[in-house]
Amino acid sequence: MSAKTNSWGRRGSAAATIAARLTFENLTRHFDGNTALNGVSLDIEPAETICLLGPSGCGKTTLLRIAAGIERPDTGRVLFNHQEIVGPSVFTPPERRGIGLMFQDFALFPHLTILQNVMFGLKGFPAIDAERVAISTLERVGLAHYAKDFPHILSGGEQQRVALARAIAPRPSIMFMDEPFSGLDPRLRDRMREETLTILREMRATSLIVTHQAEEAMRMGDRIAVMRAGKILQVGPSEEVYNNPSSLFVARVFSEMNEIPCRQTNGKVETVFGSLPVPKTATTTTNTNGDELIVGLRYQSITINKEDSGILGRVIDRKFLGDAALIEIIIDGLENPLKVRLRESIAPLVGDEVNVNIDKRKALVLKSDD
Ligand code: ATP
Repeated sequence: MSAKTNSWGRRGSAAATIAARLTFENLTRHFDGNTALNGVSLDIEPAETICLLGPSGCGKTTLLRIAAGIERPDTGRVLFNHQEIVGPSVFTPPERRGIGLMFQDFALFPHLTILQNVMFGLKGFPAIDAERVAISTLERVGLAHYAKDFPHILSGGEQQRVALARAIAPRPSIMFMDEPFSGLDPRLRDRMREETLTILREMRATSLIVTHQAEEAMRMGDRIAVMRAGKILQVGPSEEVYNNPSSLFVARVFSEMNEIPCRQTNGKVETVFGSLPVPKTATTTTNTNGDELIVGLRYQSITINKEDSGILGRVIDRKFLGDAALIEIIIDGLENPLKVRLRESIAPLVGDEVNVNIDKRKALVLKSDD
């Protein structure tokens, strides 16, 4: 084990594990007529971190529970390293999958010491080895000095670190995390997220993380899988999914936008800011002129200037947001005011006339429905 100082102030790094490939093939799951998963397929590379992102009820937790062995699918298969662990006639129980689990309600055992809590995940080890591994894992999360104490004396963030230690102590090749940081306050959450990511990388664990926060998914995921109504709509690195969303729904998951309806003519849409090409992702099967599309302009992708270039508009509202200001501008030819997020120090005042520009490369031309 290499010795280095980490930002939780203790020494050591998490021992590497043998990373595993995780594959979902066409999984479905229904609950009393409700569809939780509707044909989910996904291939996760060894040591890759994937974030499942989507609104409440889209099936994220169900997918994770099926992968972890807490739930069974109606149909479909789950494979670890190309080997079927869930299928029509196969079901490998959770304890034989070599996985680690961490949930929002981290549920430490209150009657066990912190050391015993971490050792709980090491039942297959001889006691002396279990204790050694548990202590070194507690050192890794900076809490070895609490080993003999009981969980109630720890803060929420510290308890979460014990839960992380318990999950990683057996060196799982795959980690499943369901909203693991949502119970923490924002500052603690940022730190916990960064540290957890560092540990997952040290371990080379393949990781599947459920979140409904786009920023969390972008910070943590090598790739993001955006889910809606039991399906994965798009999967890719954060830049790709953010900059080239396959649908209006995916674009909206990442940030608020101005949405301008327009119609397709010969592979283009006309807007007050000029014409924009229609990408393949927005092309309908019939692809006829007159198809209704949406031009999406994220608030921060619009600029204003004082020179005489751009489209003239007038500021009708200005909201102070600390370092930024949210401006509303009315423009001839646009039904709704355009919302623009600018640095506070350069944001115009209500009543000002401004020239508005868009970066055409950042303008999204999207199908209006999935
Ligand atoms: P959240 O972010 O709120 O946790 P989610 O995306 O994780 O949501 P799931 O928990 O997977 O969504 O739920 C998907 C759908 O399946 C929902 O409609 C939910 O009500 C339903 N569902 C999940 N588990 C059960 C269950 N055990 N019994 C009945 N319905 C269930």
